[in-house]
Amino acid sequence: MDFLRPEAWEDALAIMAERPGVVPIQGGTSVMVGLNFDLNRPTALLDLNPVTELARWEQLADGTLRVGAGVPYARLISELGDRLPGLAQAARTVGSRQIRNRGTVGGNLGATTGDTHAPLLAAGAVIEVESSARGVRMIPAAEFYPSAQRSALAPDELIRAFHVSPASGPQYFSKIGTRNAMVAAICSFSIVLYPEERRVGTGLGSAAPTPRRALAAEDFLAAELDWDGELDNAVARRFGDLVSEAANPVDDVRGTADYRNHALAVIARRALTWAWQDHSINRRSAWTCV
Ligand SMILES: Cc1cc2nc3c(=O)[nH]c(=O)nc-3n(C[C@H](O)[C@H](O)[C@H](O)COP(=O)(O)OP(=O)(O)OC[C@H]3O[C@@H](n4cnc5c(N)ncnc54)[C@H](O)[C@@H]3O)c2cc1C
Repeated sequence: MDFLRPEAWEDALAIMAERPGVVPIQGGTSVMVGLNFDLNRPTALLDLNPVTELARWEQLADGTLRVGAGVPYARLISELGDRLPGLAQAARTVGSRQIRNRGTVGGNLGATTGDTHAPLLAAGAVIEVESSARGVRMIPAAEFYPSAQRSALAPDELIRAFHVSPASGPQYFSKIGTRNAMVAAICSFSIVLYPEERRVGTGLGSAAPTPRRALAAEDFLAAELDWDGELDNAVARRFGDLVSEAANPVDDVRGTADYRNHALAVIARRALTWAWQDHSINRRSAWTCV
């Protein structure tokens, strides 16, 4: 097996175009599992670690964050946790410290299942991908998985970065697993509040063939929430039910569809409640500052 280590992004793209079947590797926390278990035997690995720009993030002139596909979870948490709290919460639940030191959002998107998909969806992230033949494509997170186990990436494309606005309000991520660490999600949920726009974003993980938003639940909250008042328990419960109705889970070794539907209603209601508590505190401190 060839092990290719280009230092320039353009050279990495050229290899993707010239060597069909080459497998990109970033942190290797998913690729190496496949190799070790002999599930995958590619003719070549394309190591993206020497392309150092992938491990950088920046704030663009319009305020958007552009985060390189190779920024590991540990740095996402320590350097961007204040600006991307929902994604950072999800990152904290990934694997162990060793996995978080190596694993990346780029690899999580490339791996087709993962805990970052729900928070990226809820926050309206956009994925920057590129090929040498067709240049850059910007793919909204909501369109990144057209069908189960298949991403929108063409065979010659690489993920370069994701773009997302810094939080303008509370964000929460919640994941159900059989224990609190080193566990694949039975289901997960992410919520993002946009108080200035009077809007809510949602993302569901491991709850349908592809990650998805709960659009009816978002619309319901936009219509029913009193942004200057208290959160009505009936509204929170109805929100949870609508999130559950948006799901289309399967029975598998990790949990039944019924369990997932029930769990989603509970974690969505809880996540909204936590977010609303933060929103109320932020509102009170804004009044105090005036
Ligand atoms: C013990 C253990 C626990 C884990 N726990 C979790 C967990 O709790 N939650 C979770 O979501 N995941 C978990 N994982 C899976 C894995 O750690 C994550 O998916 C991680 O984000 C993968 O990132 P990586 O950089 O290591 O990817 P890699 O293993 O390097 O790559 C993963 C996939 O993405 C592709 N890829 C990588 N970079 C690019 C790129 N720039 N462009 C295009 N394709 C690319 C690769 O070809 C491969 O198909 C766990 C894995 C292990 C071994």
